[in-house]
Amino acid sequence: DDGQFDPAALAEKSVSPQGANQLLSPNYVGFEAYKAKGGYALAKEVAEGKHSVESVIKAMENSGLRGLGGAGFPAGRKWRIVKDQPAPRLMAVNIDEGEPGTFKDRTYLERDPHRFLEGLLVAAQVVGIDACYIYLRDEYHGCRELLEAELVKLKANPPCKLPLIELRRGAGAYICGEESAMIESIEGKRGEPRMRPPYIAQVGLFGRPTLEHNMETLYWVRDIVQRGPDWFSAFGLNGRKGLRSFSVSGRVNYPGVKLAPAGITIQQLIDDYCGGMQDGHKFYGYLPGGASGGILPATMNDIPLDFDTLQPYGCFIGSAAVVVFSEKDRARDVALNVMRFFEHESCGQCTPCRVGTGKAAQLMEAKSWDQSTLEDLATVMVDASICGLGQAAPNPIRCTNKYFPNEVA
Ligand code: SF4
Repeated sequence: DDGQFDPAALAEKSVSPQGANQLLSPNYVGFEAYKAKGGYALAKEVAEGKHSVESVIKAMENSGLRGLGGAGFPAGRKWRIVKDQPAPRLMAVNIDEGEPGTFKDRTYLERDPHRFLEGLLVAAQVVGIDACYIYLRDEYHGCRELLEAELVKLKANPPCKLPLIELRRGAGAYICGEESAMIESIEGKRGEPRMRPPYIAQVGLFGRPTLEHNMETLYWVRDIVQRGPDWFSAFGLNGRKGLRSFSVSGRVNYPGVKLAPAGITIQQLIDDYCGGMQDGHKFYGYLPGGASGGILPATMNDIPLDFDTLQPYGCFIGSAAVVVFSEKDRARDVALNVMRFFEHESCGQCTPCRVGTGKAAQLMEAKSWDQSTLEDLATVMVDASICGLGQAAPNPIRCTNKYFPNEVA
């Protein structure tokens, strides 16, 4: 309910192992229930001019909210950039959620879909959007059914003038979570990333300026505008600001979506939010950001988890998919698994990624790694791949070499 994001409640509940799970009700809040609790009041007020466009954008900027799909671009700044482009402007919402280990968007969608839809309506009004395309992961059958039903209710009883809202099925490809590949896919083409510039904000969907957002980014809009930007930025640990929804999986007692302050460390996340490690498992390493965010050892358990904090270690947080592994696992197996995934999901458009991922997977099967060839390959992939898939694919190689050298020597 609306108390779920209260700072005091969050702190109190976080001390219980399952606390963060309890923050989210398994019963989903439908259109009527959402409205009964004050839902869509903000969208209506924005339509009535009770909040100026500038004040809403300022609230977004001051909250520090960044793109929660993984890229971390400041949301308020993005609104301002797209708003200044010539009309008609479009919106593309990314709920492809293909990053291995990530399941936060689904969790929120299955519980409180209208909080996200209200964020979408506020963004559409403030930025001046004519049409919104929601791109939903094809494997999320339940979410699709739910969203279709709730959109019918919303369209039948709109709180304000609605833009065109279309729900599009994803194409079952990891690369379609990359914003420009998603846009190609929505346009009915093969999902391949575009070269930039021009940027999506200028030339995006159907050649129009496009506001592209991850679903969770829009999910926070209502609370940030209604409660004020300080409410959101008051959360945070170790010098970081805001809330993050960590999708935690692996060898912990209570995996799940953990709504926690930005900047929390992996050790705090495991101990305070996940009930510690499973019996018989000792913490050995973790993926801080899904398949692409690299691999770190348990000895590096005090790094604040947030955007920008992991780069010095060759890692990044991405969509905050944290996978915890134990001494019964091997980092090299994790790395190989991840590389095979990239090989499978490479769109094939550019050679360094298409050939490099396959070649790297072959080399990583050897008992001791050919370090110099792998490093050469990693350099070519990082330097010459078109998009983030090929550029991030070598992260597991480099992290394993650096942090788990005994496994691959
Ligand atoms: Fe496609 Fe990989 Fe090139 Fe990206 S880096 S465009 S996924 S081949």
